Amino acid sequence: MRRVMKFGGTSVANADVVCEAAKIIKQYHDAGDELIVVVSAQRGVTDAIMNTASELLTRYEEKGISELLADLSTSHLTALQGAAPSYYDEVSIVIQRRIENLGNFLRAIYHLKELTPRSFDYVSSFGERLNVPIVHACLREMGLASAALDGCEAGVLTTRSHGDAMALPAGEQRIRDRILPLITGSDPLIPVITGFMGCTDEGIVTTLGRSGSDYTASIIGAALDVDEIWIWTDVDGIMTTDPRLVSDARVIDELSYIEVMELSYFGAKVMHSRSIEPAMQKSIPVFVKNTFNPDAPGTLISAGKHDDTRVVKAITYIEKVATVTVAGAQMIGRPGVANFIFSSLAEAQINVMMISQASSEANITLVIDEGQAERARESLMPLIRQCMVREVVVDCDVCAVAVVGSGMNGALGTAGRTFSALGNAGINVMMISQGSSEVNISFVVQGDQGARAVHVLHDEFRLSYAEHEMS
Ligand code: ADP
Ligand code: ASP
Ligand code: MG
Repeated sequence: MRRVMKFGGTSVANADVVCEAAKIIKQYHDAGDELIVVVSAQRGVTDAIMNTASELLTRYEEKGISELLADLSTSHLTALQGAAPSYYDEVSIVIQRRIENLGNFLRAIYHLKELTPRSFDYVSSFGERLNVPIVHACLREMGLASAALDGCEAGVLTTRSHGDAMALPAGEQRIRDRILPLITGSDPLIPVITGFMGCTDEGIVTTLGRSGSDYTASIIGAALDVDEIWIWTDVDGIMTTDPRLVSDARVIDELSYIEVMELSYFGAKVMHSRSIEPAMQKSIPVFVKNTFNPDAPGTLISAGKHDDTRVVKAITYIEKVATVTVAGAQMIGRPGVANFIFSSLAEAQINVMMISQASSEANITLVIDEGQAERARESLMPLIRQCMVREVVVDCDVCAVAVVGSGMNGALGTAGRTFSALGNAGINVMMISQGSSEVNISFVVQGDQGARAVHVLHDEFRLSYAEHEMS
Protein backbone atom coordinates (compact mmCIF):
# COMPACT_ATOMS: atom_id res chain seq x y z
CA MET A 1 0.00 0.00 0.00
CA ARG A 2 1.05 3.57 -0.61
CA ARG A 3 0.30 5.74 2.42
CA VAL A 4 0.93 9.29 3.60
CA MET A 5 1.46 9.45 7.34
CA LYS A 6 1.28 12.85 9.01
CA PHE A 7 2.50 13.30 12.59
CA GLY A 8 1.08 16.29 14.51
CA GLY A 9 2.89 18.55 16.98
CA THR A 10 2.47 16.40 20.10
CA SER A 11 3.52 13.27 18.18
CA VAL A 12 6.92 14.80 17.35
CA ALA A 13 7.45 17.04 20.39
CA ASN A 14 10.49 15.30 21.97
CA ALA A 15 12.90 12.38 21.54
CA ASP A 16 10.60 9.74 23.06
CA VAL A 17 7.63 10.53 20.87
CA VAL A 18 9.76 10.95 17.74
CA CYS A 19 11.03 7.41 18.42
CA GLU A 20 7.41 6.19 18.81
CA ALA A 21 6.51 7.81 15.48
CA ALA A 22 9.60 6.28 13.85
CA LYS A 23 8.63 2.83 15.20
CA ILE A 24 5.21 3.15 13.57
CA ILE A 25 6.84 4.18 10.29
CA LYS A 26 9.25 1.25 10.48
CA GLN A 27 6.46 -1.22 11.23
CA TYR A 28 4.53 -0.27 8.09
CA HIS A 29 7.67 0.08 5.99
CA ASP A 30 8.79 -3.42 6.99
CA ALA A 31 5.35 -4.74 6.10
CA GLY A 32 5.92 -3.50 2.54
CA ASP A 33 4.22 -0.10 2.46
CA GLU A 34 5.45 2.79 0.34
CA LEU A 35 5.42 5.65 2.84
CA ILE A 36 5.55 9.42 2.61
CA VAL A 37 5.88 11.17 5.98
CA VAL A 38 4.64 14.70 6.76
CA VAL A 39 5.87 16.33 9.97
CA SER A 40 4.53 19.25 12.05
CA ALA A 41 6.53 21.59 14.23
CA GLN A 42 7.09 20.55 17.85
CA ARG A 43 3.97 21.43 19.84
CA GLY A 44 3.98 25.14 20.78
CA VAL A 45 6.89 26.13 18.53
CA THR A 46 4.84 27.77 15.77
CA ASP A 47 2.97 29.80 18.40
CA ALA A 48 6.25 30.85 20.02
CA ILE A 49 7.76 32.00 16.72
CA MET A 50 4.58 33.83 15.67
CA ASN A 51 4.24 35.57 19.03
CA THR A 52 7.87 36.68 19.12
CA ALA A 53 7.74 37.98 15.55
CA SER A 54 4.55 39.97 16.24
CA GLU A 55 5.84 41.37 19.53
CA LEU A 56 9.02 42.69 17.89
CA LEU A 57 6.97 45.35 16.15
CA THR A 58 6.33 47.13 19.42
CA ARG A 59 9.39 46.12 21.47
CA TYR A 60 12.43 48.26 22.11
CA GLU A 61 14.78 45.47 23.09
CA GLU A 62 15.96 42.36 21.26
CA LYS A 63 15.80 40.08 24.31
CA GLY A 64 12.78 38.13 23.04
CA ILE A 65 14.77 36.94 20.04
CA SER A 66 17.68 35.47 21.98
CA GLU A 67 15.29 33.80 24.44
CA LEU A 68 13.33 32.20 21.62
CA LEU A 69 16.48 31.03 19.82
CA ALA A 70 17.89 29.55 23.02
CA ASP A 71 14.62 27.67 23.68
CA LEU A 72 14.49 26.36 20.13
CA SER A 73 18.09 25.27 20.31
CA THR A 74 17.56 23.41 23.59
CA SER A 75 14.35 21.65 22.59
CA HIS A 76 15.51 20.60 19.14
CA LEU A 77 19.06 19.57 20.02
CA THR A 78 17.80 17.59 23.03
CA ALA A 79 15.26 15.82 20.84
CA LEU A 80 17.96 15.09 18.26
CA GLN A 81 20.38 13.75 20.87
CA GLY A 82 17.75 11.37 22.23
CA ALA A 83 16.24 10.31 18.91
CA ALA A 84 19.35 9.97 16.75
CA PRO A 85 22.62 10.10 18.74
CA SER A 86 24.73 8.74 15.85
CA TYR A 87 23.62 11.60 13.62
CA TYR A 88 23.95 14.33 16.25
CA ASP A 89 27.14 15.92 14.86
CA GLU A 90 25.87 16.03 11.29
CA VAL A 91 22.31 17.17 11.97
CA SER A 92 22.92 19.59 14.84
CA ILE A 93 24.89 21.74 12.39
CA VAL A 94 21.86 21.90 10.08
CA ILE A 95 19.56 22.79 12.98
CA GLN A 96 21.88 25.44 14.37
CA ARG A 97 22.28 27.02 10.96
CA ARG A 98 18.52 27.22 10.56
CA ILE A 99 18.12 28.77 14.00
CA GLU A 100 20.74 31.39 13.07
CA ASN A 101 18.90 32.08 9.84
CA LEU A 102 15.64 32.53 11.75
CA GLY A 103 17.45 34.85 14.18
CA ASN A 104 18.70 37.02 11.29
CA PHE A 105 15.17 37.39 9.98
CA LEU A 106 13.74 38.22 13.39
CA ARG A 107 16.43 40.87 13.91
CA ALA A 108 15.54 42.42 10.56
CA ILE A 109 11.88 42.54 11.62
CA TYR A 110 12.88 44.12 14.92
CA HIS A 111 15.04 46.84 13.33
CA LEU A 112 12.72 47.65 10.44
CA LYS A 113 9.56 47.34 12.55
CA GLU A 114 8.02 45.75 9.51
CA LEU A 115 6.34 42.35 9.36
CA THR A 116 4.66 41.68 6.04
CA PRO A 117 2.45 38.60 5.56
CA ARG A 118 5.27 37.27 3.37
CA SER A 119 7.93 37.56 6.07
CA PHE A 120 5.51 36.28 8.69
CA ASP A 121 5.02 33.10 6.63
CA TYR A 122 8.73 32.73 6.11
CA VAL A 123 9.53 32.82 9.83
CA SER A 124 6.44 30.77 10.84
CA SER A 125 7.56 27.90 8.64
CA PHE A 126 10.72 27.38 10.71
CA GLY A 127 8.98 25.17 13.30
CA GLU A 128 8.55 22.44 10.68
CA ARG A 129 11.95 23.15 9.12
CA LEU A 130 13.66 22.55 12.44
CA ASN A 131 11.76 19.36 13.14
CA VAL A 132 12.03 17.45 9.86
CA PRO A 133 15.81 16.88 10.19
CA ILE A 134 15.19 15.21 13.58
CA VAL A 135 12.60 12.74 12.28
CA HIS A 136 14.76 12.13 9.22
CA ALA A 137 17.78 11.38 11.45
CA CYS A 138 15.73 9.10 13.71
CA LEU A 139 14.58 7.03 10.73
CA ARG A 140 18.20 6.68 9.60
CA GLU A 141 19.17 5.71 13.15
CA MET A 142 16.65 2.86 12.82
CA GLY A 143 18.22 1.80 9.54
CA LEU A 144 15.55 3.25 7.26
CA ALA A 145 16.71 5.08 4.12
CA SER A 146 14.97 8.43 4.01
CA ALA A 147 15.17 11.92 2.51
CA ALA A 148 14.31 15.29 4.13
CA LEU A 149 12.41 17.84 2.04
CA ASP A 150 10.69 21.11 2.75
CA GLY A 151 7.25 21.86 1.33
CA CYS A 152 8.71 23.78 -1.62
CA GLU A 153 11.14 21.03 -2.49
CA ALA A 154 8.30 18.53 -2.30
CA GLY A 155 6.41 20.54 -4.92
CA VAL A 156 3.56 21.99 -2.82
CA LEU A 157 2.59 24.92 -5.05
CA THR A 158 0.15 27.43 -3.58
CA THR A 159 -1.75 30.65 -4.13
CA ARG A 160 -0.13 33.85 -2.86
CA SER A 161 -2.61 34.27 0.01
CA HIS A 162 -0.04 34.30 2.79
CA GLY A 163 -1.11 32.77 6.08
CA ASP A 164 -3.92 30.84 4.45
CA ALA A 165 -2.56 29.66 1.11
CA MET A 166 -4.39 27.10 -0.99
CA ALA A 167 -2.92 24.33 -3.12
CA LEU A 168 -2.83 24.96 -6.87
CA PRO A 169 -3.64 22.09 -9.24
CA ALA A 170 -0.37 22.71 -11.12
CA GLY A 171 1.45 21.48 -8.02
CA GLU A 172 0.16 17.93 -8.50
CA GLN A 173 2.52 17.12 -11.36
CA ARG A 174 5.36 18.85 -9.52
CA ILE A 175 4.78 16.68 -6.44
CA ARG A 176 4.69 13.54 -8.60
CA ASP A 177 7.90 14.55 -10.41
CA ARG A 178 9.72 15.14 -7.13
CA ILE A 179 8.40 12.39 -4.89
CA LEU A 180 7.74 9.41 -7.14
CA PRO A 181 11.41 8.90 -8.09
CA LEU A 182 12.25 8.78 -4.37
CA ILE A 183 9.66 6.19 -3.39
CA THR A 184 9.72 4.01 -6.48
CA GLY A 185 13.43 4.14 -7.45
CA SER A 186 15.70 1.10 -7.26
CA ASP A 187 16.81 2.23 -3.77
CA PRO A 188 13.56 3.61 -2.39
CA LEU A 189 13.63 6.26 0.32
CA ILE A 190 11.01 7.48 2.78
CA PRO A 191 10.50 11.20 2.10
CA VAL A 192 10.05 13.22 5.29
CA ILE A 193 8.36 16.49 4.35
CA THR A 194 7.66 19.68 6.32
CA GLY A 195 3.93 20.19 6.77
CA PHE A 196 2.28 23.62 6.76
CA MET A 197 4.68 25.12 4.21
CA GLY A 198 4.38 25.56 0.47
CA CYS A 199 5.54 28.12 -2.05
CA THR A 200 4.24 30.23 -4.90
CA ASP A 201 5.33 29.67 -8.49
CA GLU A 202 7.99 32.33 -7.87
CA GLY A 203 9.40 30.23 -5.01
CA ILE A 204 8.15 32.52 -2.23
CA VAL A 205 7.39 30.62 0.99
CA THR A 206 3.72 30.45 2.02
CA THR A 207 1.91 28.73 4.87
CA LEU A 208 -1.37 26.84 4.63
CA GLY A 209 -3.12 28.19 7.74
CA ARG A 210 -2.93 26.99 11.34
CA SER A 211 -2.89 23.20 11.58
CA GLY A 212 -1.90 23.22 7.91
CA SER A 213 0.17 20.03 8.08
CA ASP A 214 -3.07 18.03 7.75
CA TYR A 215 -3.67 19.89 4.51
CA THR A 216 -0.11 19.14 3.32
CA ALA A 217 -0.73 15.43 3.91
CA SER A 218 -3.92 15.53 1.87
CA ILE A 219 -2.40 17.59 -0.96
CA ILE A 220 0.53 15.18 -1.26
CA GLY A 221 -1.68 12.11 -0.87
CA ALA A 222 -4.00 13.26 -3.64
CA ALA A 223 -1.12 14.13 -5.99
CA LEU A 224 0.45 10.71 -5.49
CA ASP A 225 -2.85 8.79 -5.62
CA VAL A 226 -2.05 7.09 -2.34
CA ASP A 227 -4.26 4.31 -1.01
CA GLU A 228 -4.71 5.92 2.40
CA ILE A 229 -3.84 9.05 4.37
CA TRP A 230 -3.15 8.60 8.08
CA ILE A 231 -3.28 11.56 10.43
CA TRP A 232 -1.46 10.63 13.65
CA THR A 233 -2.45 12.81 16.60
CA ASP A 234 -2.84 12.70 20.38
CA VAL A 235 -6.42 11.41 20.68
CA ASP A 236 -7.98 8.13 19.51
CA GLY A 237 -9.77 9.74 16.56
CA ILE A 238 -12.37 12.38 15.80
CA MET A 239 -14.68 12.64 18.77
CA THR A 240 -18.30 13.59 19.31
CA THR A 241 -17.09 16.94 20.63
CA ASP A 242 -13.93 18.57 21.94
CA PRO A 243 -12.80 16.17 24.71
CA ARG A 244 -11.32 19.09 26.66
CA LEU A 245 -14.83 20.46 26.99
CA VAL A 246 -16.92 17.32 27.50
CA SER A 247 -15.13 14.57 29.40
CA ASP A 248 -17.37 11.76 28.10
CA ALA A 249 -16.94 12.66 24.44
CA ARG A 250 -16.59 9.44 22.42
CA VAL A 251 -14.49 8.49 19.42
CA ILE A 252 -16.52 8.25 16.20
CA ASP A 253 -15.65 5.13 14.16
CA GLU A 254 -16.62 6.44 10.74
CA LEU A 255 -17.49 9.78 9.21
CA SER A 256 -18.12 11.00 5.70
CA TYR A 257 -15.91 13.57 4.01
CA ILE A 258 -18.70 16.15 4.18
CA GLU A 259 -19.27 15.59 7.88
CA VAL A 260 -15.58 16.15 8.65
CA MET A 261 -15.52 19.24 6.45
CA GLU A 262 -18.42 20.70 8.41
CA LEU A 263 -16.88 19.74 11.75
CA SER A 264 -13.51 21.26 10.98
CA TYR A 265 -15.07 24.35 9.43
CA PHE A 266 -17.06 24.89 12.61
CA GLY A 267 -14.08 24.68 14.91
CA ALA A 268 -13.24 21.01 15.59
CA LYS A 269 -9.54 21.60 16.02
CA VAL A 270 -8.64 18.02 15.25
CA MET A 271 -8.38 18.65 11.47
CA HIS A 272 -7.49 21.62 9.27
CA SER A 273 -10.69 22.76 7.54
CA ARG A 274 -9.39 22.40 3.97
CA SER A 275 -7.58 19.15 4.50
CA ILE A 276 -10.44 16.89 3.44
CA GLU A 277 -11.00 18.29 -0.02
CA PRO A 278 -7.95 16.92 -1.89
CA ALA A 279 -8.54 13.46 -0.39
CA MET A 280 -12.26 13.62 -1.18
CA GLN A 281 -11.62 14.55 -4.81
CA LYS A 282 -9.61 11.37 -5.24
CA SER A 283 -11.81 9.27 -2.89
CA ILE A 284 -8.82 8.48 -0.69
CA PRO A 285 -9.77 7.14 2.77
CA VAL A 286 -8.36 9.19 5.66
CA PHE A 287 -7.71 7.64 9.07
CA VAL A 288 -7.25 9.72 12.23
CA LYS A 289 -5.22 7.71 14.75
CA ASN A 290 -3.46 8.08 18.08
CA THR A 291 0.36 7.92 18.07
CA PHE A 292 0.19 7.05 21.77
CA ASN A 293 -2.34 4.24 21.26
CA PRO A 294 -1.58 2.98 17.75
CA ASP A 295 -3.63 -0.21 18.09
CA ALA A 296 -6.89 1.71 18.57
CA PRO A 297 -8.83 1.65 15.29
CA GLY A 298 -9.16 5.45 15.01
CA THR A 299 -11.70 7.23 12.82
CA LEU A 300 -12.16 6.34 9.17
CA ILE A 301 -13.21 9.21 6.92
CA SER A 302 -14.50 8.12 3.52
CA ALA A 303 -17.33 8.49 1.05
CA GLY A 304 -18.71 5.01 1.73
CA LYS A 305 -21.92 4.12 3.46
CA HIS A 306 -21.41 4.00 7.18
CA ASP A 307 -22.91 1.70 9.77
CA ASP A 308 -23.68 4.46 12.26
CA THR A 309 -27.12 5.59 11.14
CA ARG A 310 -27.75 8.15 13.79
CA VAL A 311 -28.81 11.58 12.72
CA VAL A 312 -26.47 13.74 14.78
CA LYS A 313 -22.86 12.62 15.09
CA ALA A 314 -20.98 15.52 16.68
CA ILE A 315 -21.22 19.01 18.14
CA THR A 316 -18.60 21.74 17.67
CA TYR A 317 -18.22 25.30 18.69
CA ILE A 318 -16.12 28.33 17.80
CA GLU A 319 -15.49 30.96 20.44
CA LYS A 320 -13.74 33.81 18.71
CA VAL A 321 -16.46 34.92 16.35
CA ALA A 322 -18.57 38.05 16.00
CA THR A 323 -21.98 38.77 14.52
CA VAL A 324 -22.49 41.72 12.20
CA THR A 325 -26.12 42.74 11.77
CA VAL A 326 -27.07 45.13 9.03
CA ALA A 327 -30.59 46.44 9.65
CA GLY A 328 -33.09 49.00 8.41
CA ALA A 329 -36.53 49.16 6.83
CA GLN A 330 -34.89 50.72 3.74
CA MET A 331 -33.55 47.26 2.86
CA ILE A 332 -37.03 45.83 2.25
CA GLY A 333 -37.46 44.91 -1.39
CA ARG A 334 -34.39 46.90 -2.38
CA PRO A 335 -32.14 45.01 -4.76
CA GLY A 336 -28.38 45.36 -4.40
CA VAL A 337 -27.99 45.67 -0.61
CA ALA A 338 -26.86 42.07 -0.16
CA ASN A 339 -24.56 42.44 -3.13
CA PHE A 340 -23.01 45.56 -1.58
CA ILE A 341 -22.54 43.83 1.78
CA PHE A 342 -20.84 40.75 0.37
CA SER A 343 -18.65 42.56 -2.13
CA SER A 344 -17.51 45.09 0.51
CA LEU A 345 -16.61 42.28 2.90
CA ALA A 346 -14.84 40.34 0.16
CA GLU A 347 -12.83 43.44 -0.77
CA ALA A 348 -11.81 43.77 2.88
CA GLN A 349 -10.74 40.06 2.78
CA ILE A 350 -13.33 39.06 5.37
CA ASN A 351 -14.57 35.50 5.36
CA VAL A 352 -18.27 35.07 6.16
CA MET A 353 -18.92 31.85 8.12
CA MET A 354 -22.70 31.99 8.48
CA ILE A 355 -25.50 34.07 7.00
CA SER A 356 -29.09 34.57 8.07
CA GLN A 357 -31.69 36.93 6.63
CA ALA A 358 -34.99 37.67 8.32
CA SER A 359 -37.91 37.02 5.99
CA SER A 360 -39.01 40.62 6.38
CA GLU A 361 -35.66 41.45 4.74
CA ALA A 362 -35.22 44.17 7.33
CA ASN A 363 -31.95 42.68 8.54
CA ILE A 364 -29.11 40.42 7.54
CA THR A 365 -26.84 38.87 10.17
CA LEU A 366 -23.43 37.46 9.37
CA VAL A 367 -20.94 35.56 11.48
CA ILE A 368 -17.27 36.39 10.96
CA ASP A 369 -13.97 35.95 12.75
CA GLU A 370 -13.79 38.16 15.85
CA GLY A 371 -10.43 39.61 14.78
CA GLN A 372 -12.03 41.01 11.62
CA ALA A 373 -15.04 42.65 13.30
CA GLU A 374 -13.77 46.25 13.24
CA ARG A 375 -12.66 45.96 9.63
CA ALA A 376 -16.09 44.56 8.72
CA ARG A 377 -17.89 47.46 10.40
CA GLU A 378 -15.75 50.02 8.58
CA SER A 379 -16.23 48.36 5.22
CA LEU A 380 -20.04 48.52 5.67
CA MET A 381 -20.23 52.17 6.82
CA PRO A 382 -20.89 53.46 3.27
CA LEU A 383 -24.26 51.61 3.44
CA ILE A 384 -25.36 53.99 6.21
CA ARG A 385 -23.93 57.04 4.47
CA GLN A 386 -25.83 56.14 1.31
CA CYS A 387 -29.01 55.60 3.41
CA MET A 388 -29.29 51.98 2.24
CA VAL A 389 -29.50 50.73 5.85
CA ARG A 390 -30.16 52.25 9.26
CA GLU A 391 -27.42 50.60 11.31
CA VAL A 392 -24.55 48.15 11.38
CA VAL A 393 -24.25 46.44 14.77
CA VAL A 394 -21.23 44.33 15.73
CA ASP A 395 -21.38 41.90 18.68
CA CYS A 396 -18.18 40.17 19.75
CA ASP A 397 -19.63 38.51 22.84
CA VAL A 398 -20.98 35.52 20.93
CA CYS A 399 -20.13 31.93 20.13
CA ALA A 400 -21.15 29.73 17.15
CA VAL A 401 -22.26 26.15 17.74
CA ALA A 402 -22.84 23.50 15.06
CA VAL A 403 -24.71 20.20 15.23
CA VAL A 404 -23.29 17.93 12.53
CA GLY A 405 -24.44 14.66 10.94
CA SER A 406 -25.34 13.62 7.42
CA GLY A 407 -28.34 11.70 8.76
CA MET A 408 -30.07 15.05 9.14
CA ASN A 409 -30.59 15.11 5.43
CA GLY A 410 -34.23 14.15 5.11
CA ALA A 411 -34.73 13.29 8.82
CA LEU A 412 -37.49 15.31 10.37
CA GLY A 413 -37.32 16.94 13.74
CA THR A 414 -33.59 17.47 14.38
CA ALA A 415 -33.91 21.24 14.44
CA GLY A 416 -36.97 21.00 16.70
CA ARG A 417 -35.15 18.72 19.10
CA THR A 418 -32.05 20.94 19.09
CA PHE A 419 -33.87 24.16 19.85
CA SER A 420 -36.28 22.64 22.37
CA ALA A 421 -33.34 21.23 24.32
CA LEU A 422 -31.66 24.62 24.31
CA GLY A 423 -34.90 26.36 25.27
CA ASN A 424 -35.48 23.95 28.16
CA ALA A 425 -31.97 24.72 29.38
CA GLY A 426 -32.71 28.45 29.24
CA ILE A 427 -30.19 29.11 26.47
CA ASN A 428 -31.21 31.94 24.18
CA VAL A 429 -30.45 31.40 20.47
CA MET A 430 -29.52 34.66 18.74
CA MET A 431 -29.27 33.48 15.14
CA ILE A 432 -29.81 30.23 13.23
CA SER A 433 -28.44 29.03 9.92
CA GLN A 434 -28.84 25.64 8.26
CA GLY A 435 -26.31 24.76 5.60
CA SER A 436 -27.89 23.86 2.27
CA SER A 437 -26.04 20.53 2.47
CA GLU A 438 -28.28 19.71 5.45
CA VAL A 439 -25.30 18.21 7.20
CA ASN A 440 -25.33 20.83 9.90
CA ILE A 441 -27.52 23.16 11.89
CA SER A 442 -25.50 26.05 13.20
CA PHE A 443 -26.54 28.80 15.54
CA VAL A 444 -25.17 31.63 17.65
CA VAL A 445 -25.53 32.08 21.40
CA GLN A 446 -24.12 34.54 23.92
CA GLY A 447 -20.38 34.00 24.51
CA ASP A 448 -20.79 32.58 28.01
CA GLN A 449 -23.48 30.07 26.89
CA GLY A 450 -21.46 28.28 24.19
CA ALA A 451 -19.88 25.58 26.33
CA ARG A 452 -23.21 24.87 28.07
CA ALA A 453 -25.01 24.61 24.73
CA VAL A 454 -22.48 21.97 23.64
CA HIS A 455 -23.04 19.99 26.87
CA VAL A 456 -26.83 20.20 26.56
CA LEU A 457 -26.85 18.96 22.96
CA HIS A 458 -24.23 16.27 23.58
CA ASP A 459 -26.60 14.92 26.26
CA GLU A 460 -29.76 15.47 24.19
CA PHE A 461 -28.43 13.38 21.29
CA ARG A 462 -26.84 10.90 23.73
CA LEU A 463 -23.52 11.18 21.97
CA SER A 464 -21.53 9.64 24.80
CA TYR A 465 -23.17 6.30 23.96
CA ALA A 466 -22.28 4.16 20.97
CA GLU A 467 -25.24 3.47 18.68
CA HIS A 468 -25.72 -0.12 19.89
CA GLU A 469 -25.88 1.09 23.52
CA MET A 470 -28.78 3.41 22.82
CA SER A 471 -31.72 1.04 22.57
P1 ADP B 1 -1.98 17.68 16.16
O1 ADP B 1 -0.89 18.52 16.72
O2 ADP B 1 -1.73 16.22 16.26
O3 ADP B 1 -2.38 18.12 14.76
P2 ADP B 1 -4.19 19.13 17.29
O4 ADP B 1 -3.92 19.74 18.61
O5 ADP B 1 -4.17 20.00 16.09
O6 ADP B 1 -3.21 17.89 17.12
O7 ADP B 1 -5.60 18.37 17.31
C1 ADP B 1 -5.86 17.37 18.26
C2 ADP B 1 -6.62 17.97 19.43
O8 ADP B 1 -7.86 18.47 18.95
C3 ADP B 1 -7.02 16.96 20.47
O9 ADP B 1 -6.00 16.83 21.44
C4 ADP B 1 -8.31 17.54 21.06
O10 ADP B 1 -8.04 18.16 22.29
C5 ADP B 1 -8.74 18.60 20.07
N1 ADP B 1 -10.12 18.42 19.57
C6 ADP B 1 -11.05 19.39 19.45
N2 ADP B 1 -12.20 18.92 18.96
C7 ADP B 1 -12.00 17.60 18.75
C8 ADP B 1 -12.83 16.53 18.26
N3 ADP B 1 -14.10 16.75 17.88
N4 ADP B 1 -12.30 15.31 18.20
C9 ADP B 1 -11.03 15.07 18.59
N5 ADP B 1 -10.21 16.02 19.05
C10 ADP B 1 -10.68 17.28 19.15
N1 ASP C 1 2.83 24.00 12.99
C1 ASP C 1 1.63 24.52 12.36
C2 ASP C 1 0.67 25.05 13.41
O1 ASP C 1 0.97 25.01 14.60
C3 ASP C 1 0.98 23.52 11.47
C4 ASP C 1 0.55 22.22 12.13
O2 ASP C 1 0.95 21.89 13.23
O3 ASP C 1 -0.22 21.49 11.48
O4 ASP C 1 -0.36 25.56 13.07
MG1 MG D 1 -3.57 19.72 14.10
